Amino acid sequence: MEVRVCKNCRRLFKYIYGPDLCQDCIKLVSKGEKDKINKELAATVKPLITEEEVKYEQVKDYIMTHPKSTIIQISEINQITPMKLLEWIREDRLEFSEDSANAWFKCADCGAKIKSGRFCNRCKIR
Ligand SMILES: [Zn+2]
Ligand SMILES: [Zn+2]
Repeated sequence: MEVRVCKNCRRLFKYIYGPDLCQDCIKLVSKGEKDKINKELAATVKPLITEEEVKYEQVKDYIMTHPKSTIIQISEINQITPMKLLEWIREDRLEFSEDSANAWFKCADCGAKIKSGRFCNRCKIR
């Protein structure tokens, strides 16, 4: 067993491998390193996609492939509340095709028929 002087605290310690540091100092160093790495990871890793976003993508795909389905059908098949669907429509995140007879909404301002969002294009500009 080799004995060396710790470069950090100057104590003698039983050297096994790695840098000339005693067990205590190695712990300190590696803890500091880990914290640094974790911080770097946190800065680069994107937040995990939420369940709601997954649903949203699913619903969007469904509407693309089933353009004529009603709000009720969409909500039942995709297991999402009609309220959530309407919320996305109001936020302008979902849009229905023009031949989707059930998917017309009224402009909150002038009452014109619209496909998504809350206002017709004219009222949106205003
Ligand atoms: Zn030490
Ligand atoms: Zn309008």
